[in-house]
Amino acid sequence: MARRLIARLITASLAIGFFVGVSVAPASATTADPVKQPVAVGKGGAVASVNLLATAEGIRVLRQGGNAVDAAVAAAAVLGVAEPFSSGIGGGGFMVVYDARHHRVTTIDSRETAPEAFRADIFIDPATGKPVPFPELVTSGLGVGVPGTLQAWKVAAETFGTRPLSTLLKPAIQIADQGFVVNPTFNLQINQNLSRFQDFSSTRALFLTPSGAAPAVGSLFRNPDLANTYRLIAKQGTEVFYEGPIAQNIVDTVQHPPLMPGVTRNVRPGVMSRDDIADYGVVLRKPVATTYRGLSIYGMGPPSSGGSTVGESLNILEGFNLHDLTRTQALHRYLEASRLAFADRNAYLGDPDVVDVPLAGLLSKGFGAQRRALIGPTAATSPVPPGNPYPFQPAAAANKGESREGISTTHLTVADRWGNIVSYTFTIEQIGGSGMVVPGRGFLLNNELTDFDPTPGLANSPGPGKRPRSSMSPTIVFSGSRPVLALGSPGGSTIITTVLQLLIDQVDFGMSLPDAIAAPRASQRNTALTTAEPAFLATPEAAGLLALGQKFTPTDEIGAATGIAFLPGGLFQAVAEPVRRGGGSAMVVKPAKGS
Ligand code: GLU
Repeated sequence: MARRLIARLITASLAIGFFVGVSVAPASATTADPVKQPVAVGKGGAVASVNLLATAEGIRVLRQGGNAVDAAVAAAAVLGVAEPFSSGIGGGGFMVVYDARHHRVTTIDSRETAPEAFRADIFIDPATGKPVPFPELVTSGLGVGVPGTLQAWKVAAETFGTRPLSTLLKPAIQIADQGFVVNPTFNLQINQNLSRFQDFSSTRALFLTPSGAAPAVGSLFRNPDLANTYRLIAKQGTEVFYEGPIAQNIVDTVQHPPLMPGVTRNVRPGVMSRDDIADYGVVLRKPVATTYRGLSIYGMGPPSSGGSTVGESLNILEGFNLHDLTRTQALHRYLEASRLAFADRNAYLGDPDVVDVPLAGLLSKGFGAQRRALIGPTAATSPVPPGNPYPFQPAAAANKGESREGISTTHLTVADRWGNIVSYTFTIEQIGGSGMVVPGRGFLLNNELTDFDPTPGLANSPGPGKRPRSSMSPTIVFSGSRPVLALGSPGGSTIITTVLQLLIDQVDFGMSLPDAIAAPRASQRNTALTTAEPAFLATPEAAGLLALGQKFTPTDEIGAATGIAFLPGGLFQAVAEPVRRGGGSAMVVKPAKGS
């Protein structure tokens, strides 16, 4: 099966002439400027992200002799400038790193963390005894977790990189200072957030025009505050963020949201303290490893549910010969597998340093087989109950903390000429995060704590110092000791199904990575209705699935994936979305002829 995937990847490499090529160069572009395209094939290293500037900076670092981690950190810092509504130092994320020299996969968990004063019932409104309405948590100080992204960059650079963080921040500083041309996605994301951005003085000052509108497409957007923040960090180290004046600014913003005078929005303050920020630590964790049809899949373990839910779904699907079924029958099994896996995810996944996560049981082939037996010829009715993974949990696998090794989201995929790979998903949670810019510092704070279940007593209930469950699924796939794929996506809990669909589309249905990334998506997460893109609903398979009892609800877009396929002959195929979120940017260091 692994051989079949490789054969398909070879076919994909021969098809480089088909590039869809969304060429959206900024108004000021010269012929020397890189052009935005969703697929690139070549040698010497590769970067794929949602943003042309970020991809180009990553490539520049690779060209200058930096490794994949250096390039990922530099590109991530640019994403914090140019994609500030889905990433940045006000948020957190998960990085999967393949260190080729030591043939070792490590993950860096920089998930945002709840303050020490964050009680299990903090989301229950004492006045009503019911959970605080979700929209109120979204735009609040209460939903803000202690940010981890900056420390992830520092630890990644120090552990795996070859350049200091101060050097890697430089391109982003320059872009923040000089500005960039507002594209339709940037403009749209502000418009989607307009009313809450208008309500905070700091956010209004940074992202809106003096009349309170989104900056026009084609205008120049500068962020000198963020340039100064990055500059300060480059000069004084990350302590200035975690223990110095920036920490104080974050606490002030969370505890006293910077509302415009006269605004009536009920913005609940948070309980974050200076100590919470000073105590923040990223965690290096073992990846979650599973196999699928002879391939090894490495993903992110708890507190992300990504690796385990993708892994469990694959274990369920492995017992079906999807390739030989009709596509409708195969998709029915895909939807049913993720339905069941989400029931287990919802019941058992949480912060492994606080709750007992039966990870080995969830990922065992035996448990997968037991869950597979529940899949019938027609759709199950959700919510389906969780299974019991404990009989499949080896007694020796003490769960709590076992994974520690020692010490609206974006996905970035980077590979270098030495074989190192970074698959990095990071976020500030919703597009626009909490809606609150830290005054004078140029970045938005996350609202990641809204990823907790609001009710006490569950695996993913709030708790002091706890990390909310995530769905981020940065993934690297190997055939034997050889990497064949690295990929990931934003999209909240749909990330899991997007990554799953990307994997089976390639492994079972023989699609190339560009075709798999472009393909229409459907996402079943143990809810009554499966969300699906209009293009999916227009397929003949959708009609077939309806006849099998599957029920759908349309949604505009699911995910915005990026990835790299490792093709024979040392060729990299970097791939970003051709259309979703305005299309992404894929580049290689030395493009192959014809690409
Ligand atoms: N907060 C989400 C998670 O951690 C990510 C948000 C997104 O991708 O839009 O799973």
